[in-house]
Amino acid sequence: MLYSEDLIEEVRIRNDIVGVVSGYVHLERQGRRMVGLCPFHGEKTPSFSVDAAKQVFYCFGCQKGGNVFHFVMGIENLEFPEALRQLADRANITLPEPEDNGERELSRQKKEISALNREAARFFYASLAGPGGLAAQQYLSRRGLQEKTLRAFGLGYAPDSWDALCRHLQAKGASAALLDAAGLASSGPHGPIDRFRNRVMFPIFDIRGNIVGFGGRVMDASNPKYMNSPDTPLYNKSRELYAMNFARLSHSKRIVVVEGYMDVISLHQAGIDTAVASLGTAFTQQQAWILKKYAEEVVIAYDADSAGQNATLRCMDILEASGCSVRILQIPDGKDPDEYIRNHGDERFRNLLDHALSLLEFRLLVQKRAHPGQEVEDRVHLLNKMADVLASHGNAIEREMTMSNISGEYKVSMDALKTEVDKRLRKNGRDAPPARLSTNSLRMRPVSEGPARNRYDEAELILLCLLGNENRLFEEISLRLPLERYRGTVSRVVAEKLYERLQVRREASIAELVNDLPPDAASAVIHMAETRGTVDNADKAIQDLLRRLERIALEDEKQWILDNIRSESDGNRRRELGVDLNRVIARMSALQSANDG
Ligand SMILES: [Zn+2]
Repeated sequence: MLYSEDLIEEVRIRNDIVGVVSGYVHLERQGRRMVGLCPFHGEKTPSFSVDAAKQVFYCFGCQKGGNVFHFVMGIENLEFPEALRQLADRANITLPEPEDNGERELSRQKKEISALNREAARFFYASLAGPGGLAAQQYLSRRGLQEKTLRAFGLGYAPDSWDALCRHLQAKGASAALLDAAGLASSGPHGPIDRFRNRVMFPIFDIRGNIVGFGGRVMDASNPKYMNSPDTPLYNKSRELYAMNFARLSHSKRIVVVEGYMDVISLHQAGIDTAVASLGTAFTQQQAWILKKYAEEVVIAYDADSAGQNATLRCMDILEASGCSVRILQIPDGKDPDEYIRNHGDERFRNLLDHALSLLEFRLLVQKRAHPGQEVEDRVHLLNKMADVLASHGNAIEREMTMSNISGEYKVSMDALKTEVDKRLRKNGRDAPPARLSTNSLRMRPVSEGPARNRYDEAELILLCLLGNENRLFEEISLRLPLERYRGTVSRVVAEKLYERLQVRREASIAELVNDLPPDAASAVIHMAETRGTVDNADKAIQDLLRRLERIALEDEKQWILDNIRSESDGNRRRELGVDLNRVIARMSALQSANDG
């Protein structure tokens, strides 16, 4: 950690969570909580709450929770140091510069490139409106783009000149080295020359709306058709999704992934404000993580040509493996989304979106297309391929329903189909393959399962939350359950911190406790604090929890003994284990009668 705990705590205290959250979510008072629509999962009735007294947020829908740092990290997609910096700025607290020289240099360079990009975007935008930009204006209006769309996306024009931009930026004080580092220039025989010439320009925004790079498109048939900024300290192609800065603010949690700028822009113009694109790169794992964070459902709407279909297969595999719920949009007549909207209007496109295919449907369609033959043996071959697809699909209900459709369409008995699929399932060594969860089973799964926890975590965390809410119980709890006896993965970390604060300062709050916990662990703690951490009779609750923890430990011990007795050949050793077993069982029944009594 770069900064001291005290500084971090000061930043937290000086940013009231209600004020920060209100900047993103409309909150209304309801009892001692403020409530609103959760920004982390789509919902129509509010289950997101902010507790001003405790300075934490918690969603009863998706179980996300944390303090003001976790809120900002989640909503702005930031790492902890960035969230800290942002909240320090907000509270006018000056953070010391990071110690590391390399880090400091990099952050200075990023700032410079960001400012330079902003100035370049202004230049391109002005050039589009100027006399030299007439052809570009005509091109964009031929593509059906309206004035307000051009403004929203900051579209511009790079003049047909070797160094118009470079001269402009150098006159503003930019060095040739900076122009190069920003990817705006390359070196020519007489100094830097513009990378983008005679192109329509698309600023590329990061998720927070900073301009990190540019894409340029030619207006005729020349090549290359598209040209993007190279990777720079500020821009990493594989991490950005074009227009994600807009999509994340939408009310809709159905994000549409398309191939290029023009598709994104025309979809937004048609009111579909969740269209995004990966630019100049195949779809990446990092992009999947971003989508997982903001989308409840991702619809892939790539072009209908074979390159687009191959990209679809790749993209859906990555998204599915990342736990996203995925559908595939197939645009009729081999069109791309931009063309389709221009020809048929946005209503028809929305209708296509509503009827996008499930992964299973799409995988079967791919087989159908690959095996179009009508002869009997062609059909048999296709049905066998379909059985392969079905057998690798996780959801039994969806499998069964699809089989009955296929049986009707291809006039084969359900029994025959089922026999083939079952054969494959057995061969795969599993009745319900777990690797591929279907879109439906994902929807039925609880949204957040939290971090990896073991069976001790729940009871131990509840105990710690009771303690966080009622510090007076410290003596009693630390006596009955000293630090070294915690066995949960998350609770252990929390216990160490809480015990230390209570020993040193005599007081500790839940909100402070989660300061430097990663978001998943913080959610787990806040979940317990909000749902189980307040009880009428804390002393009784503690006795119950301690008994429960002892019972879990005894169950584990009993299992361990039984396993060992089975594999132990030495008679003496087995007798000893038998004595242990009796002791454990006796203690378990004593606990049981204490519970009943
Ligand atoms: Zn939620």
